[in-house]
Amino acid sequence: MISEHEARQKILNLVQPTDAVEVALGESLHGYAAEDVHASVPIPGFDNSMMDGYALVAADSTATSPLRVSGEQPAGRDLGLSLQRGEAIRIFTGAPMPSGADAVIMQEDVEVTDAGEILCREPVEMGENVRRAGADLCRGQRVLTQGERLSPARLSLLASQGRARVKMHRRPRIAVLSTGDELIPPGEDRQLAPGEVFNSNGVMIEALCREDGIRDIDLRHCGDDFEATVETLRQLICTHDAIILSGGVSVGDHDHVRPALKELGISPELWRVRVKPGKPFLFAQGEGPDGRPVSILGLPGNPVSSFVTFHLFVRGCLRRLMGAPLDVAQTLLSPVTVSMNLTNDGDRPHYLRGRADNGTFTPQGLQQSHALATLAHANALLRVEAQTSLNAGETGEALLLTGR
Ligand code: AMP
Ligand code: MG
Repeated sequence: MISEHEARQKILNLVQPTDAVEVALGESLHGYAAEDVHASVPIPGFDNSMMDGYALVAADSTATSPLRVSGEQPAGRDLGLSLQRGEAIRIFTGAPMPSGADAVIMQEDVEVTDAGEILCREPVEMGENVRRAGADLCRGQRVLTQGERLSPARLSLLASQGRARVKMHRRPRIAVLSTGDELIPPGEDRQLAPGEVFNSNGVMIEALCREDGIRDIDLRHCGDDFEATVETLRQLICTHDAIILSGGVSVGDHDHVRPALKELGISPELWRVRVKPGKPFLFAQGEGPDGRPVSILGLPGNPVSSFVTFHLFVRGCLRRLMGAPLDVAQTLLSPVTVSMNLTNDGDRPHYLRGRADNGTFTPQGLQQSHALATLAHANALLRVEAQTSLNAGETGEALLLTGR
């Protein structure tokens, strides 16, 4: 059995990013950049006012006599105004500085006389309330680096450069293949017969993929049948970048995933990982029609095992496909204080579900791998190393779940 860390490194190293495509900025959110971009427009592009107020020479702000207002410069086209000593120019936020002015006094700090002149109530210093050209970003500086995630702020920075499109790695096409004769699609208008269960993994895996910005997801089902598993996999390998299976990867007589892969000439890169839950996890690579590798991820069918192995292995694989660098695709654990004594007598690291609130983790409810109800109320998975005890008040490591 391979360790959790080795399994993850193997997957991250094997998976290569999809090809680069150019898309509209709004379409690129949560993708990963496939190009470097350098600034062609400095920010600010010109010296401008930070406030609504009056542009002046700072030294004049201490004058006891009023300053004549000689013009007005709103935001927009530069009117090319220039300022003489003893004068001020009415100015608004974002408006270009008139030549000769070296500061802006905010309108709250002046008194406008009946004659329309201004008296400064607070002196300003040279440069005060002025945004200098290039202070934030100079021409030629890098604004985007290959492999960076396209976040709202990064999209905005690209737009500030006049860009409407960006190169990113194509979002992978994902198939989620739930296996099992017992599975019934939710929404079917009938009572479950004894032995049947609703397919809850399909939507869970789909939703976990969506959290990473993946959109093209096909939900499929296949019974516990060798031929059907072979044919379904054969077909999906031709059309998808990754296939996420749930169930059928263990050693039972009705677990057909490994025999089906063998039939297709695919030997797993890894199978069985030292982790609880999730031991039967499998990773393989098939070959698509144009020779491109297709990631095949076999998740154990128990809902919590599927959930945990998705976080430990699938997420990184998807991020690598989308072009994330190795470090970004790693699974991140955060330090938490445990609220009670916890012991893992087993020979595999155990991920316990529970709640981490204000940095303190408390396990919750049934910890077995089918116990979906307790998972739904957890916001963290605490990793307890094999043969290890954590005492109340000690620090452990937890995977923090999003959105809770
Ligand atoms: P397997 O990994 O196929 O042996 O399945 C292990 C357990 O997970 C069995 O109790 C299955 O009924 C259950 N299971 C498998 N797939 C799903 C699914 N898609 N939704 C809910 N439970 C499942
Ligand atoms: Mg099964």
